[in-house]
Amino acid sequence: MSAYDVDLFVIGGGSGGVRAARIAAGYGARVMLAEEYRVGGTCVIRGCVPKKLMVYAGRFADEFEDAAGFGWTVERPRFDWSVLKRRRDAEVARLEGIYDTNLMRAGVDVVPERAVIEDPHTIRLLGSDRVVRAERILIAVGAHPVKEPAVPGIELAITSNEVFELESLPARILVIGGGYIAVEFAGVFAALGSRTTLLHRGDRLLRGFDDEVRDALAEAYGQRMDLRLGRTLAQIDRHADGLCARLDDGSEILVDQVLVATGRRPNVAGLGLDQAGIETDAAGAIPVDAYSQTRVPSIYAVGDVTNRANLTPVAIREGHAFADTVYGGKPSCVDHRLIPTAVFSTPEIGIVGHTEATAREIYGTIDVYKARFRPMKATLSGREERILMKVLVDCASDRVVGVHIFGHDAGEVIQAVGIAVTMGATKADFDRTIAVHPTAAEELVTMRVPEVTKHPVGSG
Ligand code: NDP
Repeated sequence: MSAYDVDLFVIGGGSGGVRAARIAAGYGARVMLAEEYRVGGTCVIRGCVPKKLMVYAGRFADEFEDAAGFGWTVERPRFDWSVLKRRRDAEVARLEGIYDTNLMRAGVDVVPERAVIEDPHTIRLLGSDRVVRAERILIAVGAHPVKEPAVPGIELAITSNEVFELESLPARILVIGGGYIAVEFAGVFAALGSRTTLLHRGDRLLRGFDDEVRDALAEAYGQRMDLRLGRTLAQIDRHADGLCARLDDGSEILVDQVLVATGRRPNVAGLGLDQAGIETDAAGAIPVDAYSQTRVPSIYAVGDVTNRANLTPVAIREGHAFADTVYGGKPSCVDHRLIPTAVFSTPEIGIVGHTEATAREIYGTIDVYKARFRPMKATLSGREERILMKVLVDCASDRVVGVHIFGHDAGEVIQAVGIAVTMGATKADFDRTIAVHPTAAEELVTMRVPEVTKHPVGSG
């Protein structure tokens, strides 16, 4: 008989934990999973999924406007937040049920309690005060949004957790931050009709993205909302008619809600890492090796709590690779170097590979192919926005090392382009691919002349 109650104890029922638990159970491991809130984690419950449904809701505003150019008469559309909220929440609950069912079918014992580590093989369940002995522990507890900057009145702001609980559409909203979450929610609220201000401390949104994409986004957002760059929040006060946000330049913005999206931090507080012998890094994350193993051999960690690439599909991959390695006899680790990703702004951003600046640093001489054009639909709709596409090619090998798209459906397009780039496609491979006409994406395979050849940094 085993000295342990279970082979694997998973803490956290989000994307990474659920995948690891199911696959490990499929290999025959006895698995218990503790989730203190709702199975599905940030992505399903208060992240990717409900957010994307809100993005869809917002985009109808453009569609109604654009329809006129194609002969439609659209009476003044009205939007009902409560309908969206009810239907969105129902869909989230449905998905939560599916996650639960899948775990159950896989034979995973799900316990709806907070779990704390007492030593490298012992877990205490706080609700029932039960103690479970596990051969291995997988920490997949994710991260939480921070309320920063720490200025007076910041407690009056909401984060990307509470935004899903709002009972009505704020008529006026201030969104703070320049990352994925701020950019996406500012886009949603502006589209749904809130008077939206997006405030970011830097001079460009989306640090780490290609500079031209960042400029294109700023141009588009400047037309859709009040975009304030290079400014910071100094204070928030409650006034009779709303919240008054004062900025560092002394200006004031009166709003109904302030949404801070200034980053997320690993959920390690009170987890018992000290008892387990695990130290976190400077960002509060759990350090792991390529196989997601911590310095304590029986304890592993995947997903946002490890702060590698904080994206759902990456957490899923890490969870799956962990189970394959430990229970499936197939040692596998996740390649974090090439991760296609999308920002669901409107218009959307889709990227894979390096930015122009990093490609130049890494490869020396690169060709930059670029197309900036009005999409065909805009010819009749009259919408002014432009699509930007960039293909970056390493001159020495002809390999495509970065693709950046700013425009509608960029997320859908980049998923397919990501396959080619992951396979090591060359520019010649792109060129011999026959275009799908008429599409916007055909530009990716019809760019023949580099707009510019950039030489190694410093060579002039
Ligand atoms: P990010 O870390 O991406 O961005 C945080 C933003 O807040 C940055 O613009 C940062 O500015 C700014 N900021 C940080 N601290 C302060 C401060 N004290 N005062 C003012 N501004 C500040 O975090 P997010 O919350 O946007 O997203 C968290 C993670 O969630 C991301 O890493 C992303 O991977 C994931 N995510 C992915 C999505 C997708 O795939 N579509 C959607 C949503 C989230 P600066 O740049 O100057 O540091």
